[in-house]
Amino acid sequence: MKYFSTRGDPTPLRFCDILLEGLAPDGGLYLPERYPQVDAPTLERWRGLPYADLAFEILSLYIDDIPPEDLRRLVRATYTEAVFGTPQITPLVPLAGLGGGVAPVSLLGLSNGPTLAFKDMAMQLLGALFEYELGRRAQALNILGATSGDTGSAAEYAMRGKRGIRVFMLSPHGRMSPFQQAQMFSLQDANIHNIAVEGVFDDCQDIVKAVSADLDFKRRWRIGTVNSINWARLLAQVVYYFAGWFQATADRPGQQARVSFAVPSGNFGNICAGHVARRMGLPIERLVLATNENAVLDEFFRTGRYRVRTSAETHETSSPSMDISKASNFERFVFDLVGRDGARTASLFRDALGRDGEFSVTPAEFARIGAEGFVSGHSTHADRLRTIRQVRDACGVLVDPHTADGVKVALEQLQPGVPMLVLETALPAKFADTLVEAIGGQPPRPAGLDGIEALPKRFRVMKPDVQAVKQLIAQEAAP
Ligand SMILES: *Cc1c(COP(=O)(O)O)cnc(C)c1O
Repeated sequence: MKYFSTRGDPTPLRFCDILLEGLAPDGGLYLPERYPQVDAPTLERWRGLPYADLAFEILSLYIDDIPPEDLRRLVRATYTEAVFGTPQITPLVPLAGLGGGVAPVSLLGLSNGPTLAFKDMAMQLLGALFEYELGRRAQALNILGATSGDTGSAAEYAMRGKRGIRVFMLSPHGRMSPFQQAQMFSLQDANIHNIAVEGVFDDCQDIVKAVSADLDFKRRWRIGTVNSINWARLLAQVVYYFAGWFQATADRPGQQARVSFAVPSGNFGNICAGHVARRMGLPIERLVLATNENAVLDEFFRTGRYRVRTSAETHETSSPSMDISKASNFERFVFDLVGRDGARTASLFRDALGRDGEFSVTPAEFARIGAEGFVSGHSTHADRLRTIRQVRDACGVLVDPHTADGVKVALEQLQPGVPMLVLETALPAKFADTLVEAIGGQPPRPAGLDGIEALPKRFRVMKPDVQAVKQLIAQEAAP
């Protein structure tokens, strides 16, 4: 399988070439030259496979530069009951009582990994792939990132103790929730460096950008990232759409029954994986995109106009992991929408966005969105509180505010008889304040996390100073 940039650079690359890379040199994102097709007999052959073996089947369609026996060993070591809590890895939880008799609604549990959010699903695999590939090359990598919560902790739990990898994670000092902070700062692994920056999240991100823009420094100290544009992360997420489909159609094997997925969305990584699964032939009826008040993508899917927001226009909401001003994976979908035309994609994302901060697709292109299965909606803070109560009252299940975004929009898009699977992107324990506001009590914590706030913390506080961060990296990474 060859990989190309969405902006038309004709240089073909292999999976392991792009594994450790971010953007393509022309500013585009990497995509495979085609989506391998999965026919009905293959689908039925995969039904009943353990999650790790299903992951192996799907990944091996896209990865031909890792020997199959190695790839199988890596995915089997990654997707274990010990790490993800259940033998199914992504269990389906019926929400009987919702759906009003129109269609069955359920939650696809993606948040039972170490940091209680779906980012573990991809990041855990990325940690294994990075360690493997760096080992083969006898290289080291210094991962530099900025986080306001979910991404940083998922990255640290995936990379802790991994050979050849150090993590330098910047977070805004005192601005994460005590639980999120405890999750990250309680890690004692020597290769994990928590840096609490005296500033806001944007200051952290600016430092990462400045360090990455210094190409000499970046090369010399082998700086890498684990952000959501990484193709391997997206590929890992394709697997659970298949796993969800098998569970939702368990009573109708061999029928190619169609199901819909509702996806709480921010950077368009999660739902883009659903788009890939659909293009591979998985019988998906609708991909329901749910946003919060930062409705950049909801606006696009309703109007065909994509307008990036300024930071002043970006709201801080109670589903903070979806607070985006632009959606970094969106270019992948638009590339497919415009018929995989790299020049057209570049004219939209490089030229029009660079010049006007917005673009509109043509009416003909817009008309294809329905054929790709996409519909959308958004929620407000009040919607999320109401939905959290509604799900608890009707089903006795607690959902987090991001998942509540998904449930709210999913219920607006039900079709008779088409099962609706809402992706559960975090556990409520992670967002206790909003749960208290919604239901007047604390959400339960998974076993082993009680009292995590009292554990010894390992972090250093720094001024928002690019030079100081560079110095720290050089000092820690020096041989
Ligand atoms: C990251 C995140 C999202 C958004 O996912 P994207 O892939 O960026 O669209 C939604 N919910 C939670 C809890 C997250 O951590």
